[in-house]
Amino acid sequence: MKKADTNVVFDGGCHCGAVRYSVMAPLEDAVMCHCQLCRKLHGHVSSYAGFDKSALTLVRDAGLRWYRISPKTDRGFCKECGSGIFWRPVKSDHMALMPGTLDDSQGLKTGGQIFCADKGDYYPIDPSIKEIAAS
Ligand SMILES: [Zn+2]
Repeated sequence: MKKADTNVVFDGGCHCGAVRYSVMAPLEDAVMCHCQLCRKLHGHVSSYAGFDKSALTLVRDAGLRWYRISPKTDRGFCKECGSGIFWRPVKSDHMALMPGTLDDSQGLKTGGQIFCADKGDYYPIDPSIKEIAAS
């Protein structure tokens, strides 16, 4: 997946401020996911921008809780305000943030969408975003 600009810092956090983070690395293009699990967890379509775990600094993690979605993946969210923030495979050096939590998305783009066949009936698919295989 194409990477955005190098030498950038992406700052972000939850709504209430109990979780704040900095990612000191390029973010991969965001991927939108239409699967039922993601829509359940987020209330609607979710979006993820990947990066290396080593690039993450948790500036404030007082509210951060990890929820094990499946044997292989965790979801990070704020226990105070409920904001969904991170997604991480249990065994990987890679993880993703939910781009809506960025203070400034700095030109981040959506590179594709996955699980379009599982979308909800209540919204259309944007045909200008290419469907890609889930990794
Ligand atoms: Zn919060």
